[in-house]
Amino acid sequence: MKSNHCGHQWMIALTQKLSECELDLELKNILEHLLEDSYFALYMDKNVGAQPQPICVFASQGFPAYNNKQVSNAMQTLDCELVRISGQDGKHCFFPMHRNGKLIGFVVAQSKVLAKLENAFVITNILNIYANQQYLLYRSRLDPLTELLNRQSFDSEVMDILQQNHLLSELGDVPNWFLAMIDIDHFKEVNDNFGHVIGDEVIILVARMLRDSFDHKDFVFRYGGEEFTVLFRANDMQQAKQMLDACRRNIAKREFPRVKSLTVSCGFCQLIGSDMVPQLVQKADTALYAAKNGGRNQVVNFHELPTANLSGDYGEGFDDDMLELF
Ligand code: GH3
Ligand code: MG
Ligand code: MG
Repeated sequence: MKSNHCGHQWMIALTQKLSECELDLELKNILEHLLEDSYFALYMDKNVGAQPQPICVFASQGFPAYNNKQVSNAMQTLDCELVRISGQDGKHCFFPMHRNGKLIGFVVAQSKVLAKLENAFVITNILNIYANQQYLLYRSRLDPLTELLNRQSFDSEVMDILQQNHLLSELGDVPNWFLAMIDIDHFKEVNDNFGHVIGDEVIILVARMLRDSFDHKDFVFRYGGEEFTVLFRANDMQQAKQMLDACRRNIAKREFPRVKSLTVSCGFCQLIGSDMVPQLVQKADTALYAAKNGGRNQVVNFHELPTANLSGDYGEGFDDDMLELF
């Protein structure tokens, strides 16, 4: 049997996890070993300061869920470095989790008997290794220039939404998701006339405007160079178009440093259960090309395109069965 008296086997296992889901599961399994006489839960801000307060990442069966007040009390009173036993009965134990000296969450364990601290050192180390790995995974999903989600995380988010919609459709309560592709018009001229540094600045500003135009539960990606994709919810196609058009108008109204005015074109489609990611991208892209061909600075709904107009730069009429990628 492998020795694991310092918990180093667990630490290795945590740093090998390549998805947040697997990482959470590993930590939960480890805590089940280390806190075998307790109910426990992890509360944490995973989005690096984006959440007003930590949320429950997981809880063991039997743990009585904390309300907002209990979570914020714990966050206000905990010290980054100190494990705390509290509760009048001495049965609650708090293990802080920190990053760069800032408290980002905690594990609370509620003992069935009096809290024991014999594993406190190992637990604290494990939690901070988990926090580091979680941060690396989080950063790996972001585009370094804009801090939007990157191209690599796009496919998995779309697949997750399609899968969720499929499950929810059995309950009859499916939100309407849309995919928009947004491309800055004549961006090459920005680089040519003002240089790449100003070009980068413009990309950052447009990225921020897009992020601020959608709900925090929607997803905004930098898909490539000066192209963005947005996965968002709306009541129907009409509302989806209004949201995108409002965003397009805001960008057209804004005064950008040096460049002054700038416009974007946008194509969008609705996520339909039977579609796969490449089909959806192709639909949004086809609508985007129609927006470009129609004179730019406009939003085009794929579902409103007459079939005859679906050729554009693709050379052939659009047909799901024709999509051969490699
Ligand atoms: P259109 O209206 O048809 O979209 O024209 P466009 O000039 O925007 O399109 P095109 O695809 O020809 O040009 C995109 C340019 O974006 C070319 C490339 O040099 C530039 N680009 C791509 N990534 C970056 C980046 O990260 N920073 C900067 N500054 N430029 C970039
Ligand atoms: Mg462009
Ligand atoms: Mg482009």
